[in-house]
Amino acid sequence: MFANIPTYWCAKCDDITQFSLKVKEPPQFTFAIRKAMDDASGPVIPYETNYCDFCCKNCGQPVRVKYDEHEFAMSSYRYLPKAVYLYEFAL
Ligand SMILES: [Zn+2]
Repeated sequence: MFANIPTYWCAKCDDITQFSLKVKEPPQFTFAIRKAMDDASGPVIPYETNYCDFCCKNCGQPVRVKYDEHEFAMSSYRYLPKAVYLYEFAL
């Protein structure tokens, strides 16, 4: 389960990036990256699964985190990380 401020540890540069579940489609993502991420993660199911996109603050590695949304009380949600997708740049 996510902490209040979720963080991502980058295996490439050994740095930690804080991200927000509210932020979608950061401007750093090109169309090709977004397309690849969409192909990998599949469609979003409203009120069940969602995702957030961000880049490693150090090396710029594009990351997508897919998560489940659980409504545990009226309008109160908790978020459970489900999968992490990393975009590999072609050399
Ligand atoms: Zn990194």
